Amino acid sequence: MSTPVGALGTGQGGGVELTVQNIAQELQRRGNQLEVVAPFGSFLKGVRVKEIAGNTQIAVQTQSKDVPIMLPKNSTLANMWEYARQVQNQYDLIVNFAFDWLPFYLTPFFSTPITHFISMGSMTPALDEIMERSAKLHPDRIGVYTKSQAETFAFSEICEILSSAIDLSLYNFCAIPGDSIAWLGRIAPEKALEDAVAAANITKVPLKIYGKIQDQDYWQQIQQDFPHAPIEYMGFLNTEDLQKELGQARALLMTPRWIEAFGNVAIEALACGVPVIAYRRGGPSEIVRDGKTGFLVEPDSIPGLVTAIENIDSLSRIACRQQAEAKYSLTALGDRFESWFDKILNNS
Ligand code: UDP
Repeated sequence: MSTPVGALGTGQGGGVELTVQNIAQELQRRGNQLEVVAPFGSFLKGVRVKEIAGNTQIAVQTQSKDVPIMLPKNSTLANMWEYARQVQNQYDLIVNFAFDWLPFYLTPFFSTPITHFISMGSMTPALDEIMERSAKLHPDRIGVYTKSQAETFAFSEICEILSSAIDLSLYNFCAIPGDSIAWLGRIAPEKALEDAVAAANITKVPLKIYGKIQDQDYWQQIQQDFPHAPIEYMGFLNTEDLQKELGQARALLMTPRWIEAFGNVAIEALACGVPVIAYRRGGPSEIVRDGKTGFLVEPDSIPGLVTAIENIDSLSRIACRQQAEAKYSLTALGDRFESWFDKILNNS
């Protein structure tokens, strides 16, 4: 059960889109039969998708904390779970990737076990409450990316830490970079692109920006605030084109204001041999090996980013690729998910 905020392949869902693709692909390769249920217009490579029509969900991180739980008329999310109810008997397990109230609420009403992969840190009290209730009911059925992410919830102790992965065969190692640094991700306030632009403005190192513009006003503001910064917006690229571009970067800048649950872009960069400069908070602080495969910078410190950019060429790009191969392969991910699923199925 994919995210209901947008079709897979559009970037609207953020990193969870890649996570769904990777897990589905790897589990299928191991002989599991599966189908991915996702909003209309979704596309996955080599995996059967059941497209569900309706109005998509507003991403929770774009709303205020006290907003009540809302569903639009003819809700994609509700339609997805109506479909799941109808076909549940054909499956041993339902895996939910939606960061939404409804699937947690519905869990006890289904006869097929539902397990939840939570893709962000704590967002709203209403969601925390329903997730906690679900965690108490089935403590083995809550998966997360990282420990830092789990710690934003009251039920951190029971979370299964599953990390993330990428299909390494799709990312080519690039030994010699070009002149610029890269920033990639959804262009939205929680990602604090303005910090990366401020650092580029000081160092005068060109910054190439890739990703979905989720918040147009926010993007316009950044351009207004830094009229002379050496930045270039490159659009939202598919994985193949993205990795070609990313490999050319001297470094990837990750400047999130929020507790990033994981940060898939970090391991995509490492796979291309690109060191990662990130704030020491959330997922990236568990990924980057400070001084080896990147630099961890004091959160929200522009001077910290500037120093890291100035020292970036001292790091070994091969060490970056090696870390990606050792820790973030699809095989490693498949092993973690399969053993989590086995535990759930043995307990239910
Ligand atoms: N991405 C992409 N094309 C782009 C820029 C970004 O496909 O031009 C993808 C990137 O590969 C990554 C995702 O967008 O998988 C961003 O995920 P991340 O976990 O970094 O952050 P999230 O959006 O989930 O907060």
